[in-house]
Amino acid sequence: MRVVSLIAQMQSAALRWKKSGARVGFVPTMGYLHAGHISLVKRARQAVGPKGRVVVSIYVNPTQFGPEEDFTKYPRDLKRDLRLCREAGADVVFTPTDAAMYPGKSEDHYSTYVVEETLSLGMEGSSRPTHFRGVTTVVAKLFNCVLPDVAVFGAKDWQQAAVIQRMTADLNFPIKIIVAPTLRERDGLAMSSRNKYLNAVQRAQATILSECLSEARKLVKHAPQSAARLTRKLAECVAAKSEARVDYIHFFDGETLVPAKTARPGTHMALAVFFGKTRLIDNGRL
Ligand code: AMP
Repeated sequence: MRVVSLIAQMQSAALRWKKSGARVGFVPTMGYLHAGHISLVKRARQAVGPKGRVVVSIYVNPTQFGPEEDFTKYPRDLKRDLRLCREAGADVVFTPTDAAMYPGKSEDHYSTYVVEETLSLGMEGSSRPTHFRGVTTVVAKLFNCVLPDVAVFGAKDWQQAAVIQRMTADLNFPIKIIVAPTLRERDGLAMSSRNKYLNAVQRAQATILSECLSEARKLVKHAPQSAARLTRKLAECVAAKSEARVDYIHFFDGETLVPAKTARPGTHMALAVFFGKTRLIDNGRL
């Protein structure tokens, strides 16, 4: 496994592979890897086959963090990440620098952004207004560095996956997007690099996100539910946890992300909950 930091070097490796007929699979991450990320690496390998090449990028992208968010303290452990990538069978870990991705600090040096204007507006987009602009920009840039045939994203970030799929189609990237299932801890908490921020009490209470999904599933199985009423009911369950504060609970169509007035089996649900400054998200099909 090689570690490549230079963009030009990444691009020439990808062009060489393509010339030789190898397919390129790509997993973009911000590092501090867990089993969820590793499952995406394995999915990418499965997609490109043993003769293909799998690239994992590790880049904590500053433009997708808001000014009050955790960019500077986002957890980093490159040494461990590289070991996990090697064990998972990655061929290259791409670790571009901020200076290469966003040259110069002023807009004189960097002034181009990719903005998706529909799917990115609600949910994460309302809570984190500049987030998706940062995500679509960096993913488009990474696509141009890695030149993948296939890219794998996690269902854990459902709206992000939808936005990336739309961007890929709208901008005619010749890339197949695969969305792979959310990996969870044994107690149901969705794996996330941010779980590290939780103290013991918060960690114990953080199962409330997956519990809300289970509760909603149970209720809609019994009978369709008013989304507004169900939201209130679940918000009460979250409020019962001393450390938890609801950011949003939404019901919507899983493909179009259009809000649903009635929640029924097949409706998608997403929620975001704060534990102190840590904000966790989860989602699932009911
Ligand atoms: P991140 O490093 O958090 O930006 O995530 C990189 C990729 O891993 C994204 O496509 C995420 O959706 C995906 N991911 C994060 N957590 C999980 C999880 N628990 N299960 C599966 N994929 C995940």
